[in-house]
Amino acid sequence: MKEGKADLHMHTNASDGTDTLEERIEDAKRKGLDAIAVTDHDKVNEGLEQRSFTAENGVEVITGAEIKCKVKGRKIEILGYFIDPEDEKMKEMFQELSRRREKRMEKFVENLNQVHGLGLELEDVVERADGNVGRPHLARELKEREIVGSTQEAFDRFIGSEQDEYVPVEKIEAGKVIETVHENGGVTSLAHPGRSLGEDEVREIIHDLTGKGLDALEVDYTYRERRGLNSYRVNFGVEKASELADRFDLLRTGGSDCHGSRSDKYFLGEVSIPYSRVETLRDAASFSR
Ligand SMILES: [Zn+2]
Repeated sequence: MKEGKADLHMHTNASDGTDTLEERIEDAKRKGLDAIAVTDHDKVNEGLEQRSFTAENGVEVITGAEIKCKVKGRKIEILGYFIDPEDEKMKEMFQELSRRREKRMEKFVENLNQVHGLGLELEDVVERADGNVGRPHLARELKEREIVGSTQEAFDRFIGSEQDEYVPVEKIEAGKVIETVHENGGVTSLAHPGRSLGEDEVREIIHDLTGKGLDALEVDYTYRERRGLNSYRVNFGVEKASELADRFDLLRTGGSDCHGSRSDKYFLGEVSIPYSRVETLRDAASFSR
């Protein structure tokens, strides 16, 4: 068995990260990681063309995605690993997610124009996004137009989830996500279970997802609370997460959820798991059987 360290959760500029895929791979090497999984929000980084590959510097790169979805009316995120990005059904799912985001943004712009008479144009906001459009792009548009002094102010005054103008993204069902990843040949893991959800709630959700075929639980991640922009609570620690993985007979994944060297979520190398767990995960994927 190969020894080493892996980080199976990070973002690039294909979603809301600050670094390119190449920068992530270089950074991983510097941080002593042997394998990484790139898990952008609701899409696969365009530079990833197969389920996994070994970069020139020796770092193994696993193709993944972190997909926002819902189960029992609660918002969760499912990580998909060893995904074949060329698969049509997978592409269709990502296109559908992207359409939902755009529809949501259209409604957001409409609301803001109606309530505040801001005169925003949907195209201007969409153009700010490299791929999937989201609230950070809307916040930047508001700042650029000097409607707000900072993106934080945009969230506080106009687009935070507490505001009347807020529009949620219509989420797809977690069961559909698991099914699509499985048909693709990949494996699934529930991301950061102790974040935002309470202990009892998460047990119910994991029970439900296990019935739908969930393969793994993200056990190792940064158990650090966040306040302000994109805040979240941390309801339980790594011991509880391990216990849940054991109880539901789930594999264990882990990762930093790093958003890049120019972000305030620069955690690469702070969280890692033994490489042997990558091998276990790969063996569980149906493409390898
Ligand atoms: Zn993430």
